[in-house]
Order: sequence, then C-alpha cells, then structure tokens
Amino acid sequence: MSMQRVNTRTVRRKSRAIVLRTLVLLIMCGIAAFAVLIGKLYDLQITKNSYYESLALQYQLRQTSLSATRGTIYDVHGNILAMSAAVENVFISPWEIDNKSQDIAFIANGLSTILGVSGSEIMEMSTHIDSQYRVVKYGVNVMQAQEVREFIRTNSLMGIYLEPATKRFYPNDNLASQVLGFTGRDNEGLDGLEARYNGLLTGVDGRTISLSNALGKKLMMPEYDDFYAAQNGDSITLTIDSSIQYYVEKHLAQAIIDYDVQNGAACIAMNPKTGAIYAMANYPNFDPNNFEQIGEREAQRLETIEDEEAYRAARYGALLRQWRNRSLSDTYEPGSVFKIMTLAMAIEENVVALDHLYDCKGYMEVQGREEDEPLHCWNIYGHGEQTISQAMRNSCNVVCVEMALRVRSQTFYKYIDAFGLFERTGLDNTAEARGLWWDESVFFNRYNQSQLASASFGQTFKVTPIQMITAAAATINGGYLMQPYIVSHISDTDGNITQVTQPEILRQVISAETSATVRSILEGVVSSGTGRNAQVRGYRIGGKTGTSENVEQLTAENTVIGASKDYIVSFIGFAPAEDPEIIILLLLDTPSEETGIVISGGAMAAPVVGSMLADILPLCLGIRPQYTDEDLGDINMDVPRVIGNSVSDAQQILSVSGFECRTVGDGETVTNQLPAANAYVASGTTVILYLGEELPKDPVVVPSLSGMSYGAAKDTLESQGMFIRTTGSPKSDGRVEVSVQSVPAGEWHMYGSIVEVTLINKDAIDRN
Ligand SMILES: [Zn+2]
Repeated sequence: MSMQRVNTRTVRRKSRAIVLRTLVLLIMCGIAAFAVLIGKLYDLQITKNSYYESLALQYQLRQTSLSATRGTIYDVHGNILAMSAAVENVFISPWEIDNKSQDIAFIANGLSTILGVSGSEIMEMSTHIDSQYRVVKYGVNVMQAQEVREFIRTNSLMGIYLEPATKRFYPNDNLASQVLGFTGRDNEGLDGLEARYNGLLTGVDGRTISLSNALGKKLMMPEYDDFYAAQNGDSITLTIDSSIQYYVEKHLAQAIIDYDVQNGAACIAMNPKTGAIYAMANYPNFDPNNFEQIGEREAQRLETIEDEEAYRAARYGALLRQWRNRSLSDTYEPGSVFKIMTLAMAIEENVVALDHLYDCKGYMEVQGREEDEPLHCWNIYGHGEQTISQAMRNSCNVVCVEMALRVRSQTFYKYIDAFGLFERTGLDNTAEARGLWWDESVFFNRYNQSQLASASFGQTFKVTPIQMITAAAATINGGYLMQPYIVSHISDTDGNITQVTQPEILRQVISAETSATVRSILEGVVSSGTGRNAQVRGYRIGGKTGTSENVEQLTAENTVIGASKDYIVSFIGFAPAEDPEIIILLLLDTPSEETGIVISGGAMAAPVVGSMLADILPLCLGIRPQYTDEDLGDINMDVPRVIGNSVSDAQQILSVSGFECRTVGDGETVTNQLPAANAYVASGTTVILYLGEELPKDPVVVPSLSGMSYGAAKDTLESQGMFIRTTGSPKSDGRVEVSVQSVPAGEWHMYGSIVEVTLINKDAIDRN
C-alpha cells in the first residue's frame, strides 16, 4: 500500500503542476491582452496626443480584419494541450522611417537588442521604402512589447508599430507532439490534429471598418466604426489522457537511452473496450512551440556532419522524422506479436484442441519451400510436445504454423480482412498508411503454403501500429473490432458540445468464449512465458512479445543473432488480464547490440510496457494492486522517520515496516538516518541510524550492477553507502538479474543515493 501512497503523491504533484502551469499561462495571457489594450490607449491618447492632432486631417476609412481566436485542444480531463494567447507583432514602416528621416541604424540597433533579431536584417527591411509594413518580429510577449513601447517613447521615434496578434501555445511542450501537430506563423494548422481539424479550430475572422489616419493608425472615434465580430474557432476535447501520455513518454524516453535505440520508437495505449486512444507517442518527438528545433539527441548526431550540404539534408530529414506520427504513418513487420491473431482464428475455427499436445522438433516441412530448406522454429532444438497454451508461452513457430495450416489460407485471409488489417483504421485520414499484404493469388496457392506459414508468425507482410493494436484489442475485448478514435467531443466557443464520438463496434470477429480463452493464454505468456518481464506485482497482465527484422523482404525463419542487423522489438500488453481496461503496443526500432542485453521483445520491450502499466494502472486508471504474499516479499517501501527515537524504538519501527538497520556512533538517540524518511527503497533495506555522528559528505562512485542478481546488487550498493529499488520487476521465479540501472556506473553521487534497477528474467530473453 505504501507504493500506492507515494505514487499517488507524485501524480498529485504532477497534476497540481499542470493546473498551476495552465493557470499561470491563462493569467499571463489575460495580462497580455489587457496590457495591449492599455498600451494602445496610452499610445493614442496621452503620449502622442499632439502628434495625432496634427495628423487628424489626413484620415481615411480603413478596413481591419479581427482575427478569430483559434479553438483550444483539451485532453480527456479538460487539461489544455494547445491554446491561443494574445501577443503582439512588431513592425516598421520603411516609408515613414525614410519620410520622417529617422535614424535607422539607431532603430535597428535598439530593436535588435530588445527582440533578438539581427540588426542587419532590420536595416535590410528599411530599404523597402515603398512599404509601410515590414514585420520585425511575430508573436512578441508582453515584456518585450513594453520594452519596444518604452524605446519608442523615450526616443520619440516614428515608424515603429505594434499590432495585436495571437500565438499558439503548447503548455506541455513535447507531450503528444505528433498527435497535436503545430501551426505556422499565420495560425494555420500544418500537421497533426491542428492540420486535420484546421477548419473547425480556425473560426471566421470578423472585421471593422473604421476611421484611420494616413499612416493606418486607428482613431478613437467609435461613431464611424462598423464592426463585425469574429466567430471564434471550436474547441476539441481528445480521448488522450495527459497523465497516461506522460507515463508512456517517460518510459519510452528511458527505453531509448537504456537500449540505445537507433531508429526511433512508437507506442499506443488504447481502451480495448471502446477504441478510445489514451496515449500515442513516438520517438524522436519535438516541442510544437519550436517545431523547427531538432531534439537534443538528434542534434548531437547532426553535429558530427561536416559537409554543409549533407548537414542541411540531414537536418531536413531529422525534422520530418520528428514530426512523423509513426504509430499511424509507418508500417512494420509485427513478428511474433501477430501469433495472437493466428491463435484467435484457430480457436474460433475450432481446428485445435486446447488439451492436445503438438510437437515441435525445431523445424517442419512446408509445402512450396525448397526441400532442403525446412521452416525452423526460433528454438532450433525444438520445444518438444506442448499444448497450444505452452506453445504460446514458448512463442513456438512450428505450432503457430500448424495452427495456420489447419485454419487454411482462404479462412486465414478472411480473418485478416475481418480484423481490419487490409484497410486503414480511419483514425486519421491524412497521415495514416496502409498495410502491405500478399495478393490472394499468391496467398491461396495450394501447392505453396510458405506465405501462409510465414504470415502465421507475423512475417513477410506489414501493418501499421494502429492496425495491429486495434486488431489485437478485438481478440481480448470479447471479440469486437472497435473503431479507434482520438476526438472525444467538439464544443463551440460558448462551451456547447456540438459533436460527440460514441464508441463504435465495426463487427464481432470472434466469439466472447474464444476471446476469454485468448486472454487466459496470453496471461500465461506473461506469468510464465516469454513475456515474463512485463510482470507488475499485484496485477494480472497478459501479452505477447515480438522480434522482427526491419528489412523489406524476409526469409521465413527467424535468423540467429547476426552482425548489425536492424531489428524491431515489440510487445503488446493488456491489463487487468481478466477484464482489460488498457492495451499497450510498444515497438523499438533497432536497439543497439552494444548494451549487452539480448535483442528481443521479451528482454527489451516487455519490461518497458511493464513499467508503463505499473504507473498507469494505479495512478491513471485507479486500478489498485492486489498483492499476494509472494508479491509482498521484496517490494519497494517508504522508509519511516525514526529521527528523535531511541535506538530500540527505531529498530522496532523499522522492523515492523520490513526494514533492517545498523547504527553509526554511540549515542542513545537517532540524530539522522539514511535513507531519509519517506525515501522509496526496497523492503529489507538496511537503514543506517546515526547516533550523533555527522552524515558522510564525500561522494561515492556508483558500481556496475549489470548481470547481478537482485540480492547481489542490493548488497553491493549498500556496502558502498547507496540503496536500491526496483521497477517493472518480474516475480522471483527463474533466473532474475539486473538489466539496466537508473544511474550509470562510474558516476559520482552523494552518499546515501538511491539507484533504481530494472530486473529481467533470463529465462524469457529468447528472440521472440
Ligand atoms: Zn518450437
């Protein structure tokens, strides 16, 4: 329960931070709008009174457009993901500067200092003396706008102006960047939902016809004004849950570092019952506030390119990559994750018996393949006799092919169609790609079953991640193919809801009974199969691992680990296994072999999805863990505060909470403790009680824990004055060891620091 408490606190802190940020932003925008107004009035009526009087005769009627405010994009809980705020554009009138003989070098220098625009650029603008409008900087904030006013005022300058404008803000920076997309300087949506729903969000500009002077400055004579109000844009509320999105992105970013992933990654979290998208994340991503800025990791790579031409091309490529919503736009070979589909078909068609034993000799003859090239199981020594359930735990290729051959190619094809894998899902009609499949004429060849055989374990065809997760959701939600959706509802500027998306069942593909069987078999994959590293204490999780080569055309068998091949490792996980509320698909494109971790979905993708679920289930979905006695053995706990207690009382308090202790010094009362009170560390940690002694001040070097057992890693850290806690850790059956540590070995850290380790199960790190 203590894990619950700490994490709830973190999330509360997190959501409080979001609320606070939004509030600050709103206040800033309010101040900005107000300041603009006051500034205008001040400009017109006080500072420049005599100036305007002298120009009053040169009036003209002028039409100004009033830009409609672009609608807001909210997450499912009403948190702001994108909003428009009032800013100002600073522009000069080169005509006036020239006509009134202003000192342009002085102006350029002043504006350059305030706005950070190059002085020579401003000088260049001023040469267009037939123009009255050259924008020096768009979207200037309140502070800078005031500085510009002050600069104009104190130096009695002419030909510099400010005009109100709006700017798009994304308060959460990189969060859900490819989903949201971004807008250009003219507030036109250029990518993502900003582009797709541009028409709705934009609204209709209004206009005023008003009396203005010769320089285009509006005069305060309302009786001459004709006013058509702007119709503000509609607002969109997404199904995205920012906190789920946050945890997905957090663990995705960590995976990129831990496995040194070379070609990016994609992850989708969905409600399998409704098809609502909870989160959609891709790596690399970007900050839509500065969408032309390359992310740090990519920027570092670009720095190594010396040739300028090559650099420019690489930079452009990097921009396109970071804007790309791979979850929708890219196709990939799903590999063994796809065995879920084959399993569902075979059970639904009643061509396999769950209590029957199927034999895997490590290879099998498939009609149509060369005789000396049998199809191999990834385990070339064979899995022996196994039930269907065991075969899924082993991710056995041979039994999977066996199932597909019994289903037969025509029926197999019919299911692929029914699971929606031939069509775009329709989640996004601008960015979404189509899968790539064998043509019927090839697939239905009675004398060549090799395509069917390869397809049964997810090879020689490609799907998009959104297609894969939607189809997989249908196998575990009672058999229904749901229409995935990301827009919950649309509301007008007054907050009236004008359009609501209702969950839509496209069709039932398999029966509820088959679906229940699939769920239970896939729970077995995580509880004692290749998916073991996705286990989260206190939860029942189901899933399937996948590893595939990232090449255009594949050989039918899984190839043994070779030199520098591109692999996509993936995992699909859902929870709670008995009644799934969430399903997550994660794929990592080309993790590095140098990390020393075997490149496989089981070793790399499964623990990441486990970590995501460990945060999301209790903190975002309110699903509490139910611990078994075994679970409680070595879970992380909060350290109680024992400072001020007698040594014996402290020992008593710690022992009740499941901690050991040792003392330093010979006083009677505890004057300090390590780890500190409320630190979240492994239960059984030996807490150091200081009895009048000072805490050590010298930093200590973090040891390498890779490959150690959990107990050895804990002892090693404690012997050096540091402490351990675990994340996404498997239960202690089988050979469990440390795969990654939160603080790299060799770094110097404070005495008493806590190192978080990811444990993986060595029995589950095969290549499937
Ligand atoms: Zn096998």
